[in-house]
Amino acid sequence: MIYDELLGERVPEQERMDRYEDVRKLEAMDADERSKYFQDLVASCIRCYACRDVCPLCYCPTCFVDESRPQWLGKSIDPTDTFTFHLLRAFHCAGRCTDCGACERVCPMDIKVRQFTKKLEKDVLELYDHEAGMTTETRPPLDVYQPDDPGDFIE
Ligand code: SF4
Ligand code: SF4
Ligand code: SF4
Repeated sequence: MIYDELLGERVPEQERMDRYEDVRKLEAMDADERSKYFQDLVASCIRCYACRDVCPLCYCPTCFVDESRPQWLGKSIDPTDTFTFHLLRAFHCAGRCTDCGACERVCPMDIKVRQFTKKLEKDVLELYDHEAGMTTETRPPLDVYQPDDPGDFIE
């Protein structure tokens, strides 16, 4: 929809496709099944951070994984640290991820990391009617404060 430079020809929008078929399968799992699914998904992750480095949203001067004061998580491929990296990165992308697919394309271990971000992308669409990358006129919903936002957390 929005680009600085268009390489090649525009391709037509895909129609009549179920964008969230895989997400619905995840939603149908109970909490334990879903937890195991995601832990298995990232079991082969080598923490190279290529998925983060290629992501257009990951431009923080110092990523939380590189912080040492405080150190948010360990540097090894310990399963808990690895899972924490993926979970937190996904939440950092919530409401901003355009599902461009770059993170998956670049992964040397062929890990389907979009499984994390697509669920959040679907939630943001359903809860806030917002789709990242479609307009420059509105800010991502998790980036704005509205005094009349529903929910007790505001108070
Ligand atoms: S994972 Fe989070 S902290 Fe790290 S670069 Fe991306 S948005 Fe920034
Ligand atoms: S699909 Fe989302 S998380 Fe992955 S590189 Fe694109 S914008 Fe980043
Ligand atoms: S690119 Fe793949 S192997 Fe590297 S940190 Fe991301 S998920 Fe792990």
